[in-house]
Order: sequence, then structure tokens, then C-alpha cells
Amino acid sequence: MLIKPKIRGFICTAAHPQGCFKAVEEQVNYIKSQKPFIGPKNVLVIGASTGYGLASRIAATFGGGANTIGVFFEKPAAGKRTASAGWYNTAAFETLAQQAGYYAKSINGDAFSDDIKQQTIELIRQDLKQIDLVVYSLASPRRTDPKTGETYTSVLKTVDQTYVNKTVDPLTGDVKEVTIEPGDQADIDNTVAVMGGADWQLWIDALQQAGVLAEGATTVAYSYIGPELTYPVYKNGTIGKAKDHLYETAKNLAQQLQPLKGRALVSINKAVVTQSSAAIPVVPLYISILFKIMKTQGSHEGCIEQMYRMFHDNIYTDKPKNIDPDGHIRVDNYEMQADIQQKVIDVWQQVNANNIDALADLSGYRQDFYRLFGFDFPNINYDSDVDPNVAIPSIKE
Ligand code: NAD
Repeated sequence: MLIKPKIRGFICTAAHPQGCFKAVEEQVNYIKSQKPFIGPKNVLVIGASTGYGLASRIAATFGGGANTIGVFFEKPAAGKRTASAGWYNTAAFETLAQQAGYYAKSINGDAFSDDIKQQTIELIRQDLKQIDLVVYSLASPRRTDPKTGETYTSVLKTVDQTYVNKTVDPLTGDVKEVTIEPGDQADIDNTVAVMGGADWQLWIDALQQAGVLAEGATTVAYSYIGPELTYPVYKNGTIGKAKDHLYETAKNLAQQLQPLKGRALVSINKAVVTQSSAAIPVVPLYISILFKIMKTQGSHEGCIEQMYRMFHDNIYTDKPKNIDPDGHIRVDNYEMQADIQQKVIDVWQQVNANNIDALADLSGYRQDFYRLFGFDFPNINYDSDVDPNVAIPSIKE
């Protein structure tokens, strides 16, 4: 069938298998062009099919030679519907990993459930015996607590005051004002229940109790801080409260892993275009301004460059380069440089619907967005028929 982008709000409901293959292949080639690192042997990536989790899986495999198990929640193609991008990405990743001689298997299902945790433990026991690194990279709007059956929905709200700022619809270029009302305690609690550390804790509990964490095992989860101008909606908003909970969880896990001489880390990553960040108001305008400035300065990075630096310069080295006073890895260091942030503020004050194309990298944002779904790659003929049914080698449908 012919596969074209189908935009609904801030997501695209179609994905192109050949484009997704290309996107994964480019990331693999980037890692192959970098110096390898002596990394973990056996890696579990939770949230492995898109964004930072996929980049972590690629970097661990092609940079550190790791065997990987990836867990995610994606859809295969059905009838006239294409598979989701993460499905095609994983099909591509497994194919490339196996061609290069690396073990790679995947589990598709709700990572928040006890069942998927158990399936993962069984697969580890059967194939890898023990895991040296657990990457926790889930981003989800919803979570059902496996113990109580209660479903929580996260919200992107401020915490104490109404916040009014500019935002852009990156696909139309329409700049307008957005008003975000403060959430109440229930909004905060729900967001913490979804995007805080509770499920990370449950994963590590389950893996440790099952005896499948190796001596010296490391776990890492991801966070974002960003500039002061997005503090009300991000760092100090409901999502920021969830991230505070994640930092506390990292401290608990570090204690809990002491008998194994293990580590629990948080890496604070740069703002990039992913399916999750596209959903946050104000952030797409910030990202398009930031990208223009960082590309001009030569310090722009995507997920894969970030994950390479996280492993090579910070986790698998005796001399970590980017650790802040809280012990967090800061691969957002270029984004947060004072000169870059000052330039963002200068542009932010002037930007409007008439000058946005000159002041911000909207076309770069759009390209990244379409490429998340396998569109807008050169050398792919989007007017030619393509079979949407692509198998992930390790998954039986
Ligand atoms: P993403 O949307 O690209 O990826 C989310 C992953 O989670 C996918 O693999 C998806 O399949 C999986 N997933 C979602 N719900 C699931 C479920 N119920 N069961 C199993 N898998 C499920 O997200 P991302 O932007 O890469 O975010 C990952 C982490 O990185 C988050 O903690 C996020 O806060 C952090 N981060 C993101 C940015 C950014 O700009 N995007 C910046 C810094 C940090």
C-alpha cells in the first residue's frame, strides 16, 4: 500500500517501514563511527522502541557490543493500519543487530504490568542469565498499578499558578498564546504515579528478587530539566514533581543495590523531538529556537549522540565528565550553557507568527517529527507501494 503521514494533533498515526529502517540504520552508523567503549554485556531496555530508549539500545549494542532485551508497547500492522513507528524501528534494530552477530530479543506489552515483568525475567533466565544494565526509558500518559488495578493519567500542568506563554504548532507554524491552569493535588499524585519512580522501583525489585541482576549491575533512568522559561510547565510543574520522585527513587535504588555493588543513576538529557516531547505545550517553540542556535554553534545533538556520550563519557569510564553536584549525569550540558540560554531568551522575546521562520528552526523540528515516523527521508520513494506487514524477528504474532 501507499503510506503517507496521517497527522492527528501532535502525533502521526501512520509509519513507514523503510523510513523507520533508515532512521535506525543512521543511528547505528553514527555509533559505528565513534570509538567503542567497554560497556555492559547484557542489557535490558524498558521503553526500547523509540526516542532515548531506542538510542540507548543501539549505543549499547553497536558501541559496547551488548546483548539486549527490549521491552515496549507497540502495534503491528492490521488491515489498512500501518504498524507503529516503534514496531518498525525494532524490526530494523533486531535485523541489523542479528546481521552484526549480536543477540537482540524483544517483548511487546504493558511494562507496568506484573505479567510483562515476569515474561522478561523468564527470558533473561533462559537466554542471558543475568543483566548488567537496566535502562528505564518509559514515557506514557497512563499507568495501571499492577497491585491495586487503579489507572492513573498524567497531566502537564503547573503546580501553583496559571502560566501564560507563547507556543507554536510546529506543523503549521502558528504561534499563539497558551494558558496552562494549575493542577490540584490529585493531578500531581496521578502524574507522579505514572512518570515518577514507582514502576522503576517495581522493575528493580522484581529483577533483584529473581536473582537476575549481575554483580555490579547499573540502572539508569532519564529526566529533563530545561530552561527557566519552561520551569512552570516542566521542572516545577506536575511532570517535574514526577521527576523529583524519580530522583528519590534513584537514591533508594542505589542503597538497595549496594549488596550487589550496583549503581542507580539518573541522566538528564537534552530536549529533542520525540513523540513524548511533541505533546508538551511551549516546549516545541523552545526546541525550534534552541535547535537553530545549537546548529549555528555546532553543538546540536539528537538522541543517539546524547546516549553515546552518556555511556562513553559518563557511565563506562573511570573519569565521568558530566556529573552535577546531585550526582546526576548532565548530557544536557551543551543545551544549558549560559550563552546558548541567553540567546534563546533574546529570541523568545521577539518571536511571533511573522518572524518565526527566520528566528527558529521550524523546518528542522518538522523534519525530526516526520522522521520519527519514517517520513521525509531522501532516497525513499513515498509514492511506491510498500508492504506494511513487517515482522519483528523475535516476536511471534
Ligand atoms: P518516547 O515516547 O520516544 O519513548 C517511550 C517508550 O516507552 C517507547 O519505547 C514506548 O513503546 C514505551 N512505552 C510507553 N508506554 C509503555 C508501556 N505501558 N509499556 C511498555 N512500553 C511503553 O519517549 P522519550 O522522549 O524517549 O522519553 C523517554 C525518557 O526520556 C522519559 O523519561 C523522558 O522524560 C526522558 N527525556 C526526554 C526528553 C525529550 O526531549 N524527549 C529529554 C530528556 C529526557
